[in-house]
Amino acid sequence: MTSISRVALAALFAATPLAAQLPIPAMHPRVKAAIDGLKTDNAWTIDNQISICEIAAPPFKEKVRGLEYRRRLQALGLTNVRIDTAGNVIAERKGAGGGPTVVIAGHLDTVFPEGTDVKVKRTPTRFTSPGIGDDCRGLAVVLSVARAFEKQKIQTLGTVYFIGNVGEEGPGNLRGVRNLFQNELKGKIDYFISVDGTGLDVTSRGVGSNRYKVTYKGPGGHSYGAFGRVNPIHALGRAIAQIGDLQVPSSPRTTFNVGVISGGTSVNSIPFEASFELDMRSESAEEVAKVDAKVQKILVDALNAENARWGGGTNGKAKLTMTIDTIGIRPANGAQTDAATIVATAIAAGKALGFTPATGASSTDANLPMSMGIPAVTIDGGGRGGDAHALTEWYEDTASGWRGPQWALLLVAALAGVR
Ligand SMILES: [Zn+2]
Repeated sequence: MTSISRVALAALFAATPLAAQLPIPAMHPRVKAAIDGLKTDNAWTIDNQISICEIAAPPFKEKVRGLEYRRRLQALGLTNVRIDTAGNVIAERKGAGGGPTVVIAGHLDTVFPEGTDVKVKRTPTRFTSPGIGDDCRGLAVVLSVARAFEKQKIQTLGTVYFIGNVGEEGPGNLRGVRNLFQNELKGKIDYFISVDGTGLDVTSRGVGSNRYKVTYKGPGGHSYGAFGRVNPIHALGRAIAQIGDLQVPSSPRTTFNVGVISGGTSVNSIPFEASFELDMRSESAEEVAKVDAKVQKILVDALNAENARWGGGTNGKAKLTMTIDTIGIRPANGAQTDAATIVATAIAAGKALGFTPATGASSTDANLPMSMGIPAVTIDGGGRGGDAHALTEWYEDTASGWRGPQWALLLVAALAGVR
């Protein structure tokens, strides 16, 4: 029957663009119960978000929060919970077999130094505290999803790892996920999901970044008596002025920022040292390399200009030196399209819950697996928030903050498969 086979053929073609998307088990009775439960138990998620946030976790000092995170995962009934050599908290929930291994992770670290007040301030609609969204939201979502899987006794086919990882923020340079992918779970991870921040969108492409600390050094001296000597802060100023004038493309979005400057000892001393920290980013590895090359030239030009300015004479003999230390290099990866299985499944899971996640590029823990060709996304944790990385960081759960954990659960279930 020609007409029927034509219909079948049309159906096949219609399905082709979505061929990579995995089935969404939203109607599976246990999964459905878990999704409903995440709405009912929304207060539990919020309580965890707040109480986790009130445990400080500066870069490289995530241990106290990590120990508590392990305790909470164990309290959910997860038996195999460990802390690896990097400090990642890893809970393993065994699959029945025959499915891919899925990691869902939130990051333990914040950008805030020791001594920062992390007490959460509350109004009826808003929670304010450094790290409340980035990434206490993600950590709470991961806990809630683990809890819902346990509560409803959902048997996945693939093993699922629930993880609180270290080292996501700048100084950590992705050391947590690096240890997962290169040592602890090397070769085992089929899909990686990071839950980071607020909203309901998905990061499907990696913004690369090069970060440096640049230091100029000289002999220093009295500002009056030794006038004529090379000045590291003047060199720094020359460099930053030129960096500030750099032109970069808006598409692919490419950025630069001098985020920290330091140096000098007093107003009447020629400093012996000055340094600044610089970050350059782009979704395109080529554009990162281009802006990096321009910056490298500027740094040398500034050094030479300051040395030339005070050339000659007794005081002019000592030259400035320059060192460039790498703070972090994150690989760019804009190659994962919306048709990739993990991205298409994340979008479909959102649609099954009534919203359409937008895809975008960012710099997250997912950069590392992406750069290794391992399917990875970073999803938002629901609710809304702002002022990330500032002391005024805030989170509002809105009327449907629970959509975040629901989405995360449905995505994990779809990727791992459910029996
Ligand atoms: Zn984050």
